[in-house]
Amino acid sequence: MHPFGLTAVVPCYDEADSVAQTHAEIVAALGGYDLEILFVDDGSTDGTLAEIQRLAATDPRVQYLSFSRNFGFEAAFSAGYKYARKPWLVHLDADLQFPPAEVHHLVARALEGHDAVFGVRRTRHDPWHRRGGAACYHWLGRRLRIRIPPGATTFRVLRTELARRVVELRLGTPYFLATVPLLTSRIATVPVEHRPRTRGTSKFRLGRLIGHALELYVAFSRRAVHWVAIVLLLAALASAGLAVAAFAGLLGTGVAAGAGLVAQSVALCGAAVLLRYTVLIADAQPRPAMFYVRAASIPVEPADELFPGARPAPFIPAQREDAA
Ligand code: UDP
Ligand code: MG
Repeated sequence: MHPFGLTAVVPCYDEADSVAQTHAEIVAALGGYDLEILFVDDGSTDGTLAEIQRLAATDPRVQYLSFSRNFGFEAAFSAGYKYARKPWLVHLDADLQFPPAEVHHLVARALEGHDAVFGVRRTRHDPWHRRGGAACYHWLGRRLRIRIPPGATTFRVLRTELARRVVELRLGTPYFLATVPLLTSRIATVPVEHRPRTRGTSKFRLGRLIGHALELYVAFSRRAVHWVAIVLLLAALASAGLAVAAFAGLLGTGVAAGAGLVAQSVALCGAAVLLRYTVLIADAQPRPAMFYVRAASIPVEPADELFPGARPAPFIPAQREDAA
């Protein structure tokens, strides 16, 4: 058997139509590795878990975790990274927009001495608003001095120990791409193919993407808060200037009122970002775990289970009352 131990982590949310094909393609491309395929069912409501369990019954390389509700993409892959059992892992989305055959190129780079290798899409096959949005998001991230390997995606091969450390840190949501460079400089990128989604639909709507971006900016940069403070100050000065000009009769009341409202909306946007910082500080207080597991094919720490007693928990050895 190939000595390279690799866990393919596959987060799945309502992917019942995809998982069988995903499994077949992963096995065809990566069957030569000492392979584990870890599906993480992120609280799907469409029979995804049953599909995964069907695969697990016939293929011993298939393992799964199933959440008690939808905890979101980061929670899903974080659980997979935490419970991956091979020394290396590859992240593959269930829709296989990144072809598993490309994994070999990432593994080859890893073996050159890198702890983390990220796929960079040669051509991205997603709708225009996703591509445009991503360009703006990275541009602003760079302005805020947040270090993300340029073009890096969720298609990545990493040392499992490194992935676990990143998950433990739980910075931001956690923001994997921005945390890895804080831990190691042995990072590489590799150009990869990217395909349009052919089954199921994207789970990322605009609101969620904007939320993620804001999360990155406030969690990984203190520059954003300085910028916001400056913008608020400028809005205040503009309002004061408008008021003076209106009283002095230099501006019509309509123009002054309109411009004043513009200054006010800029200030309110800034206040919203500051509020997000406040929530981030409050988040440092005790909070629920990032995810809770309801069912799994592998041992899970009791703290990660919603009902630890509901199935055998191999991490707690049975205590005998009369033990000396
Ligand atoms: N996903 C998940 N939980 C979520 C949203 C998405 O586990 O709450 C999974 C999804 O099933 C897929 C992967 O994350 O395997 C990436 O999602 P998607 O393909 O919808 O993202 P996009 O390619 O549109 O960015
Ligand atoms: Mg996708």
